[in-house]
Amino acid sequence: MTPGIRPLIAGNWKMHGLAADGLALARAVAAGAAGVGAELLVCPPATLVAAVAAALAGTPVAVGGQDCHAAPKGAHTGDIAAPMLADAGARYVILGHSERRAAYRETDPTVRAKAEAAITAGLVPIVCVGEPEDDRLLGRAEEVVAEQIAGSLPPGFGAAGGVVAYEPVWAIGTGRTPTEADIAAMHAMIRARLVAAFPQHGGGLRILYGGSVKPANAAAILALPHVDGALVGGASLVAEDFLAIARAA
Ligand code: PGA
Repeated sequence: MTPGIRPLIAGNWKMHGLAADGLALARAVAAGAAGVGAELLVCPPATLVAAVAAALAGTPVAVGGQDCHAAPKGAHTGDIAAPMLADAGARYVILGHSERRAAYRETDPTVRAKAEAAITAGLVPIVCVGEPEDDRLLGRAEEVVAEQIAGSLPPGFGAAGGVVAYEPVWAIGTGRTPTEADIAAMHAMIRARLVAAFPQHGGGLRILYGGSVKPANAAAILALPHVDGALVGGASLVAEDFLAIARAA
């Protein structure tokens, strides 16, 4: 945690959820939100953003997208523009997730352009960074992440209250996590870079940890300095687990 920063617990549903189970999950999260100090966010697949946003209207649970295009509209078959997500009721959008960096070869400049588009549309970008396992083993994890930070965050990121999610690629969906010391060191490095890049806002921006966060490890991870929340994949698909993680913040 960082004193003065309200933690954010974000659920990345990835490509999971038809209307019936997605809406039930969203409603179950909202039903358990009372008394949770952390801000709660669910990021359903694009097909459910509008329905989930409608179901969660008037609750403290926010809705986000999982990606957006860098252009506000145009001839981009199959893509979704940031203003469309905002129009559907989203407040946040996850960008540069390692699954997209891998499957769609999204580069730092691509992610940066998308983040700029998100900010222009009034969305808060959650920009994902994180090293592959090889780089961790070679002792280059911080260098790789610092490079992603330098390349992926647009100038308006600080003023927009942008969020950085540190997700080591090898920890996603594997049940493995870095040591607490490694997480703390990475988050301290990210904080220093944010303060340097955005002197006015960098100290107050949220830095999430993501990668195999579960109810069993959440409290220890969320207690680390500069860990201001979590980006949760698998465990966000079970309302009780997601809420247990949020209560640990
Ligand atoms: P996981 O995924 O919690 O299932 O490891 C996290 C993520 O990819 O955001």
